[in-house]
Amino acid sequence: MNYLKNTLNKKTTPQSQPIPGSAQVANSAGGYAFAVDDWTRLTRFLVLGAEGGTYYIGERTLTLENAEAVKRCIQSDGPRVVREIVAVSDMGRAPKNDPALFALAMCAALGDDATRRAALAALPQVARIGTHLFHFAAYVDGMRGWGRGLRQAIARWYNAQDAGKLAYQAIKYGQRDGWSHRDLLRLGHPTPATEQHTALYHWITQGWPGVGDAPHPDPALRPVWACERLKRAADAREAASLIRDHTLPREAVPTQWLGDPAVWEALLEQMPMTALIRNLATLTRVGLLTPQSDATRKVIAQVTDKARLKKARVHPIAVLSALKTYAQGRGERGQNTWTPVAKVVDALDAAFYASFGNVEATGRRWLLALDVSGSMGGPPIAGTPGLTPRIASAAMAMITAATEPEHQIVAFSAPSGGGGYGGQWGGQSGLTPVTISPRQRLDDVIRETDKIPFGGTDCALPMVYALKNKMAADVFVVYTDSETWAGKIHPVQALREYRQRMGIPAKLVVVGMTSNGFSIADANDAGMLDVVGFDTATPQLMSDFARQ
Ligand code: CA
Repeated sequence: MNYLKNTLNKKTTPQSQPIPGSAQVANSAGGYAFAVDDWTRLTRFLVLGAEGGTYYIGERTLTLENAEAVKRCIQSDGPRVVREIVAVSDMGRAPKNDPALFALAMCAALGDDATRRAALAALPQVARIGTHLFHFAAYVDGMRGWGRGLRQAIARWYNAQDAGKLAYQAIKYGQRDGWSHRDLLRLGHPTPATEQHTALYHWITQGWPGVGDAPHPDPALRPVWACERLKRAADAREAASLIRDHTLPREAVPTQWLGDPAVWEALLEQMPMTALIRNLATLTRVGLLTPQSDATRKVIAQVTDKARLKKARVHPIAVLSALKTYAQGRGERGQNTWTPVAKVVDALDAAFYASFGNVEATGRRWLLALDVSGSMGGPPIAGTPGLTPRIASAAMAMITAATEPEHQIVAFSAPSGGGGYGGQWGGQSGLTPVTISPRQRLDDVIRETDKIPFGGTDCALPMVYALKNKMAADVFVVYTDSETWAGKIHPVQALREYRQRMGIPAKLVVVGMTSNGFSIADANDAGMLDVVGFDTATPQLMSDFARQ
C-alpha cells in the first residue's frame, strides 16, 4: 500500500480524486475541478447564457444554477452587478443580450433600494431596442409587481428617445414574447415629451388616423405614414420606392414583397449592419449578390468596415454563424439553397477577426490547446445552430493565432478507454496534431475541427505533452468546459511540474466555453486566469495577462 501516493501526494493526483488540501469540487463528469467564484460565473452567464444547457447539465438546471449565482452576487454587491451587466451589454461583448436583460430584471426585483434604482436607471443602456424592452418586460413581469419605479422607468424609456428614433423602433419592433409597445405604453403611461411623441403614442395605442396620398408634413412622423402606405402598396415598384424614400426596414415589408429583387435592392441601400449579415443568403438567392455585381462590392465594403462593425456592436458569433451557414449554401434547416459568392465568404472571414478589435502581439510563446472531447460537441454556444463549443473554440483560438507569431495549436482528448497519455495505457495518444491555421478560411477551420475524433477528457494533456517533448511555452491556453476526469494527474499539477522541470514560469489561461461552475485553473495561483469564451474582451484580457 502506497500511503503517500494515496493520501498526501499533492504533486500527482488522478483527476477522479480531489488534490489533497485543495478546495476542489466534483464536476459533472466524475472528475474534480475548481469551482469558479460567483463573479466569474456571472460573466460566464452574461456572455454565454444557459440556452440549451451543456452536454452534462440540462437547460433548466443550468439556468437555475446561474440564477442562484447572480442572486448571491446581488446580495453581496448589487450595484456592482448592474455595472457588470452594463459593461457586458453596452460594449456588445455577448452574442445575445437576453442574459443581461434577465440579470437586470433580477436586480430590479431582488436588489436593495440602491440596486433597484441603479438597475432601472441602466434600463436604456441595456434595453437599447424595442425587442430588448419586451424581453425585459417579460422577465421582470415574472419576478415582481409593476410598482411606480418600474412604470416610470418604462415611461422614461419612451420619452427619452427623439421622435424619429422612436418611430423607427415602433416600426421595426412590433411585439415579442407576448409584449407590445401598446402594452408598455399603457403600463408606463408617459406624459408625452413633445407633440410628436403625442402623435406616436396615439399611433401605437390606437392606430394611424387615415392614410392620405400626401406624405406626412413632419419628417419625424413621415416613416409612420410610409409604413402604413406600404401595407397597401399596389406593386413591388411602389413598395420599393416607399422603402427607398423613407428608409423602411425589412420588418415593415409585407411578406408578399419579400421574394422580390427590386424590394431587396431598396432595402439593401440603407440596411443596418446586423440585418445585412443575417440576410446575405437571401440577397444571394434573389440574385442581387453575384461574383461581379455592384451590390456585392457594396456589401463587401460594408461588412469589412471596422468602424461600422464596432458601432453596430456586431458580435463575432453572429459573423461566424453567418459565415458557416452562408458558405454551406443551404439553411440550417435545409430548405433554402443558394450559390455562395466566394468574395462574400472572404469578407465575412475578415469581419470575424475585425469584430474582436485590435490586439497587439505580446511576443510570448503560446500553446493553444482545444478540448475536443465528446462533451465539447454538446449544445451549441448561445443557442447558435451548428456552433458547438469545439467549433467555437477553434475559431476563438484563431484570434490569438492570427496575432501571435509564436504559437502552436493542439487538440486533445483522452483515449476512449479513459486515462493515460503518450500511449502508456495502450491506445493512441490523446493529442491530435491539428493543421488549422488563421491562414485558412474559417469554414475550412470548422470542417477540419469537425473531423477530429472524439474521446474522453484529460485537460492535463497539453502540459504533459509539452514537457515530454521539451516544448517551450510561456502561456498555455486551454479551451474547455473543465469537465476533466480521465487523467492520472490534475492540470494544475502538470503545469507546476512543467514550470519546475522546464524552468519557465508558464501561465495558464482557461477559456470557459460553457456557463457551468467549474475551472481547471486554481484561483489562488496568480499565474492562472479564467476568461470567458466568446467574450469580445477576452483576447485583450489574455494578451494583458501574458504580458504582465
Ligand atoms: Ca469532455
